Amino acid sequence: MTTALAPDALLEELLAAGLFLSTGVDGLYGRSAVLEELLERLDGLVSALAAEDGAERLRFPPALPRRTLERSGYLKGFPHLAGTVHAFAGDERDHRELLAALEEGRDWTRCQRPTELALVPAACYPVYPTLAARGPLPAGGGLVDVASWCFRHEPSREPTRLQVFRMRELVRLGTPEEVRAFRAAWLERGRRMVERLALPCTIETAHDPFFGRGGRVMATSQKDQGLKFELLVPILDGAQPTACLSFNYHQDHFGRTFGLRTATGEAAHSACVGFGLERLAIALLRHHGLAPERWPRSVRAVLWS
Ligand code: AMP
Ligand code: ZN
Repeated sequence: MTTALAPDALLEELLAAGLFLSTGVDGLYGRSAVLEELLERLDGLVSALAAEDGAERLRFPPALPRRTLERSGYLKGFPHLAGTVHAFAGDERDHRELLAALEEGRDWTRCQRPTELALVPAACYPVYPTLAARGPLPAGGGLVDVASWCFRHEPSREPTRLQVFRMRELVRLGTPEEVRAFRAAWLERGRRMVERLALPCTIETAHDPFFGRGGRVMATSQKDQGLKFELLVPILDGAQPTACLSFNYHQDHFGRTFGLRTATGEAAHSACVGFGLERLAIALLRHHGLAPERWPRSVRAVLWS
């Protein structure tokens, strides 16, 4: 590791190096060609690791039906992170009022109404209703490969805590045994992947950032049941190591919620492994330097072979 850096000093470094491009809003950045290529290489590395499993590759836009978000239970646990899309829903008088408000620096959003869209909070959310609509899973269950821009309303000066970021996920659906075996295999694969990138890491049980006092109970229960593991890499000095990969077991939550059944008619269990592509890229930049062309040859070989 190089010298100590406060979280927001690392952000300043990434901006000064031109890797992140400022937009004036914390957690919302453009990406340079160098960073973009790194993100693509990391995405490619995940593809290579997953190739032999024959996952079905699906891609969805970064918005999902608001109804899906409502049904999913996300608003119960994470009302503070959710984002919905609003749009103008007025007449000409409202339009004139909007323009006047803009001109005078007043709130112009009065005529904005919620649309039927919400922003995708995690890449796997659109998968469950889509698979459920096909009918029961085949024998042996399903395996889906997804990726998405994700939104979480958590503005921060930590460059690892973005409001809009890219997540790659593999999602396994099936019996409890199938799903647990998948997660166990990826805990090992994920660790090997990060070790090949010469990043220090640990894997620990974790919980999601559930909202409010009721959330504390959910968090404790999630952790006690070992439903979430995270692969952590030290990135920010003086802070806890950062979760770069997550391994989530949902039990039959999504199966029940969306009516997704196994071949024998039970509510399907599901698990996902999520890769935070920006976090992995920042971990590499932090540990090996801001210029990927000068990284150790062994690390470059993993990404550029
Ligand atoms: P989660 O669904 O919270 O388990 O997130 C999956 C992965 O996305 C995490 O392991 C992180 O690598 C990444 N991630 C989560 N939140 C953020 C964020 N605010 N900014 C960047 N990456 C994130
Ligand atoms: Zn997921």
